[in-house]
Amino acid sequence: MGLIVGLEEKLPSGFLLTTVEKLAGYMRKNSLWPATFGLACCAIEMMAAGAGRYDLARFGMEVFRASPRQADLMIVAGRVSNKMAPVVRQIYDQMAAPKWTIAMGACASSGGMFNNYAIVQGVDHIIPVDIYLPGCPPRPEMLMDAILKLHEQIGNEKLGPNREKIIKDVEAAALAAKPTHQLKGLLA
Ligand code: SF4
Repeated sequence: MGLIVGLEEKLPSGFLLTTVEKLAGYMRKNSLWPATFGLACCAIEMMAAGAGRYDLARFGMEVFRASPRQADLMIVAGRVSNKMAPVVRQIYDQMAAPKWTIAMGACASSGGMFNNYAIVQGVDHIIPVDIYLPGCPPRPEMLMDAILKLHEQIGNEKLGPNREKIIKDVEAAALAAKPTHQLKGLLA
């Protein structure tokens, strides 16, 4: 795995890159290690997911790491206060790349019911998010489902020139989209 990290970005597109993509995706999705930290009530459900009744270990996911340097999955479990935001960002920065994030619950995803000056209105204001998990709190089964969906996403992740092409296409689609001030609907 160590040999593959970094090298795959330099491969030209074609059969070899596709094969490496599949191999890297398979290994990455099956070796996710979450960082150990929780912010609020959602963290209780996250802990329950790791305990005997729900047994996250069935998916090889039980290795919550105490050091962010050994983790590649951040589960933001709970509301993020403005005071905690720099800490969350620092932990994210210290994690090994490639890394992924799940915003667990309404608060982490959007601020939830805490529409006030003390709470960050969605953790995607400070770190990139791969999966938004709704609910207040989401049940352990929902967290496990989110992790399995993330596995799927990681397994299909593109690398090198293939990824650059996807980024360009997404950017072009965003630029071609109708500006939000012209949208009609609930806000009109
Ligand atoms: S989504 Fe609900 S359970 Fe989760 S942190 Fe917010 S208030 Fe607590």
